[in-house]
Amino acid sequence: MSTVASGQKSQICFSIDDMPVVSYGINDSNYQKMIFNSIMSSLVKNKIPAIGFVNERKIRKEADGGRYQKELLKNWIKSGLELGNHTYSHPDFNNVSCKEYTSDILKGEPILKEILSESGKSIKYFRHPFLHVGETKSKADSLDAFLKEHGYKVAPVTIDNDDYLFALAYKKASDVKDTILMSRIGFDYIDYMEKKLHFYERQSVALFGRKIPQILLIHASLLNAVYLDSLASMYKRNGYEFADMDTALRDEAYNSKVTSYGKWGISWIDRWAISSGKKGDFFNGDPVAPDYIK
Ligand SMILES: [Zn+2]
Repeated sequence: MSTVASGQKSQICFSIDDMPVVSYGINDSNYQKMIFNSIMSSLVKNKIPAIGFVNERKIRKEADGGRYQKELLKNWIKSGLELGNHTYSHPDFNNVSCKEYTSDILKGEPILKEILSESGKSIKYFRHPFLHVGETKSKADSLDAFLKEHGYKVAPVTIDNDDYLFALAYKKASDVKDTILMSRIGFDYIDYMEKKLHFYERQSVALFGRKIPQILLIHASLLNAVYLDSLASMYKRNGYEFADMDTALRDEAYNSKVTSYGKWGISWIDRWAISSGKKGDFFNGDPVAPDYIK
């Protein structure tokens, strides 16, 4: 019996990383505004209570201190969407000490605090760049203790994917105005994301015996600015409704323990599976991007 037929909807939370915008070095404010506003309006239109994770360096490196980018983020909050910390400069925790990493987290707070406090809110969620949480237990524990002490909850990801590869291919096709290729990439992106959804649904059922609320990671790219409506339709077609981070994390599956560590940046479903002793075959069938995208 499908979830739709049973009247029970599955849930998915959208999280959007590398905010305000993945600009590929294009510092044109109109270009950045177009991407940001398009993503925001699709989220609002589809009633998706998304959370965006910000790298403040992108804002503060601007000559004017990132005035227009701050305005964009203020509008995001006013639209009922959430923001969290994704560090200041997107360091790789596998390559820096806990001390360096945590100071980068703190450096990523001032603008977020300013914007959130205007709406009576405070920073609640942290998302690890590259999903690297610490390659050893002691390093991961040190970071967890820091996050707890500073009032953060970790924002896990269950639907990990290579949207950034599609986004880069799309941007390159867009640079040369190859509209046929752009359409092909967009079509293949949605198809790939649907396969990823089905894969992590199966993994969820294999591990928990049911479909847990999924947490999707995508990036604030041109590709997602153009294809977010299609993405939303695909999840709806598969019987999903959109949930915020708080709601997703209330599911007891998210209390599962991670006890195995490595340099990997992977789905939390995979972390829980590895931690519970799952091996080899369990992880088979993870969809990959087509060769021309890679
Ligand atoms: Zn990131």
